[in-house]
Amino acid sequence: MKPLICQSCGFPFSAERRGTNRDGSKNNDYCLDCYKNGEYTDHHLTLHEQERRLLEMAKEHNEISLEEAQQIIRSLPDLKRWKMTNIF
Ligand SMILES: [Zn+2]
Repeated sequence: MKPLICQSCGFPFSAERRGTNRDGSKNNDYCLDCYKNGEYTDHHLTLHEQERRLLEMAKEHNEISLEEAQQIIRSLPDLKRWKMTNIF
């Protein structure tokens, strides 16, 4: 199985960390942190907010390096969640 990239937060995730659809099946597009029971865990999240979170993770919490954060930030506009104009 190829590595999955969450189409919301941009992070790679394992099969065990897949989000869940409303019917309880697994969703290959989103990680469990972003998508549960067929809904985004944070409906109000914007692309800008997600960028800010990534920078915070790098600068304040040292969870990822700044390079990793910037790499993910560059990939965000291509992800399914951010690609199209938000419908809702
Ligand atoms: Zn995610």
